[in-house]
Amino acid sequence: MSKPINQKNTGSSSAEVSSLSYQGVYSCPVCRHGEISEIALMDAFACNFCRHIFTANLEEQLLKMADSSLPLTWYWNGKRWQGLPRAGAELDWGAGLAAIAFVLLPPTLVGLAAYYFPSLPNDPFSWFPIFWTGLTFFTHLTCVVWLIIEYYQFPVFAFLRVWQQQLLGRRQ
Ligand SMILES: [Zn+2]
Repeated sequence: MSKPINQKNTGSSSAEVSSLSYQGVYSCPVCRHGEISEIALMDAFACNFCRHIFTANLEEQLLKMADSSLPLTWYWNGKRWQGLPRAGAELDWGAGLAAIAFVLLPPTLVGLAAYYFPSLPNDPFSWFPIFWTGLTFFTHLTCVVWLIIEYYQFPVFAFLRVWQQQLLGRRQ
């Protein structure tokens, strides 16, 4: 597997401002790892890493994900992508608060219960409340992280695979 070309924005030209056009190559707004470039003979972009396909609105410098049911759109400001607020389902601060509460509240309750009703010193299961508190925290955290990954359609497994390959490649 060829290494993704990722040296574009590391040179001295990184400060240059470029407009969005089908002749250009841009970093991928979805995986932030690959690069998107025009699909030959089509007015569309494709990522060389996560394989998502995008359509562009060049007048408004907008890029829209074409192969997703989610209406994901980004604005090209000349240097990088800016996420646009999504019409419909929005991840606002309320959803963020709900996610934080969902992760923190249950382990807090379990932990408080363990704190106020401590087990006897010689209890062979005295480790259990701490273990249970930690387990509650991690299961709820996993739920939220998974929802975020699903929401953004982040190609987590492809990303981890390439990451691992690069790490292993550097050691050799
Ligand atoms: Zn990508």
